[in-house]
Amino acid sequence: LTHPDPRYEPSGLSLIHAGRQLRAYGLLSGLEGNLSLRLPNGDVMITATGVRKDRLTPADLIILSPAGEQTHGLGKPSSELALHLALYSAEQTVSAIIHTHPPIATAFAVARRVPVAGILAESAALLGGVALVPYHEPGSGHLGQSAGEALQSARAQLLAGHGAVTVGVNIQDALVRMELLEKLCEIQLSADILGGAKSLTSDEVEALRNPRAKLN
Ligand SMILES: [Zn+2]
Repeated sequence: LTHPDPRYEPSGLSLIHAGRQLRAYGLLSGLEGNLSLRLPNGDVMITATGVRKDRLTPADLIILSPAGEQTHGLGKPSSELALHLALYSAEQTVSAIIHTHPPIATAFAVARRVPVAGILAESAALLGGVALVPYHEPGSGHLGQSAGEALQSARAQLLAGHGAVTVGVNIQDALVRMELLEKLCEIQLSADILGGAKSLTSDEVEALRNPRAKLN
């Protein structure tokens, strides 16, 4: 089935599905969180504000030009629209963004502590690093600017005193990073109680990023 409204196309359905998954994985509660995609024509599709992201319908998806002008959808775009637009503008390879407040990752964000991605092979390979973005008022242009700068070094970010952001080439890519970020924070916390996590060596991390290096 096809529908002329682009919100019904696969892009929109992938956002609706990801919202349900975030809730099912314990990464989302209440009305919090926002998800977006950069569409093939450069427009941005983002979830509306004030709706549950685990019960999204096509009517809850808003489409805007890259400059932020609303072209589809009657609702009001997410209050974190400026954050999403700043991240897309900072990095052309990013096509999907998830912002939410997962419990353990947000505990790190409010403690202003960064988990060490290099303690686990999977997070070392997929997250690379985790950035801590300084506190700015949620929804502000300053928050977007700081997050855009941090994106140069990390695909997963903790927003100080607030929550977490992950980006990807599509929404499932960003979702896997959000799951992994929460898991990494959980494991770092438990390992701290057990006397502290030991990081992989830089050679071990390099081998994970470039499996062929092992053969040389
Ligand atoms: Zn938030």
